[in-house]
Amino acid sequence: MKPAFSPSDLSAVKDLLSVPRRIVITTHYKPDGDALGSSLGLQSVLQNIGHQVITVVPSEFPAFLSWMQDAETAIDFLQNKDKATEAFRNAELVICLDFNDPARVEGMMNVLLEAPAPRILIDHHLDPKPFCNYTFSETRVSSTCELIVHLLIALELQSAISGSAAEAFYCGIMTDTGSFRFSSVSAETHEIVAMLLAKGARNYVVHEKIYDTSSEWRLRFLGHSLLNRMVVIPEYHTVYFTALKEEMEAFHHESGDTEGLVNYGLSITGMKMAVLFSERDKMVKISFRSKGDFSVKDLAEKHFEGGGHKNAAGGKSTESLQQTVKRFVSVLPSYSEALK
Ligand code: 5GP
Ligand code: MN
Repeated sequence: MKPAFSPSDLSAVKDLLSVPRRIVITTHYKPDGDALGSSLGLQSVLQNIGHQVITVVPSEFPAFLSWMQDAETAIDFLQNKDKATEAFRNAELVICLDFNDPARVEGMMNVLLEAPAPRILIDHHLDPKPFCNYTFSETRVSSTCELIVHLLIALELQSAISGSAAEAFYCGIMTDTGSFRFSSVSAETHEIVAMLLAKGARNYVVHEKIYDTSSEWRLRFLGHSLLNRMVVIPEYHTVYFTALKEEMEAFHHESGDTEGLVNYGLSITGMKMAVLFSERDKMVKISFRSKGDFSVKDLAEKHFEGGGHKNAAGGKSTESLQQTVKRFVSVLPSYSEALK
């Protein structure tokens, strides 16, 4: 769908961008394709119109995203706290992308909130917290990357989108829509994609960089997970996977290796929810996916300190993996109507 922007917010942003500024772009912890694509794509556009732009990420991003233009210039807060903090302190404008709550930048939250510059939020998650001076939020748009391109068109800045920025934006739309298959994809999504291709985004290169750069170990771990670590609960149309720390180590696990695993659960006929429990140091990271009206966001919020979107959410637990799974299974009966 085509988002409607508030004319007063649009003109305020136009004013903010009317003279060269020192701008910091930031996004959520463990940036994904949409988070990094929107950040680096927007960085390029703003640099092209004369701004000085630094992207600060709250933590590292997976290696399969490192091909994006300027990825090497992004400052990782966890690796370089001083430089990241200085960038926020010196910024004249801070742009927050692809998150709805300052807590999503984890340990960088105070640095973000204490930065003196005005903040702009551009995001597509539900219920954005009021932590920015200007909020461009539209939950019906597929991705932050799609939303940014709509916004750039509204600001008459689309001519500043280079081929490599178009490729970064394409990557975010592609990864957040499961390669253009989710219900969040609209005619306008495809119109934006057509524009990005016309600007030089090479769709086949992006697909290959994202989907065809697995290590042999990653694929073997996928096989192991599908064969040995998948549990189907037919009465709740639910399937879950467990990724054990010890096994991930045995399979030479790298950041991003479990990405996409959870989606396989929904490819079984009739499944409405798929969940991945991933054992980390002293916590369990949980990924939820659903089909149709069942809201995994609500479940994640209510039981697992998380949130996200209706059909894709995340959460965590400080209990053991076994205990977390047990608790998950124990809450399913309260969703029996919705999961019928
Ligand atoms: P993933 O399963 O890919 O990590 O996350 C799926 C979606 O849920 C993403 O849109 C992400 O922003 C959101 N999400 C993941 N983890 C959390 C979390 O701990 N809290 C909240 N509020 N959202 C999360
Ligand atoms: Mn997103």
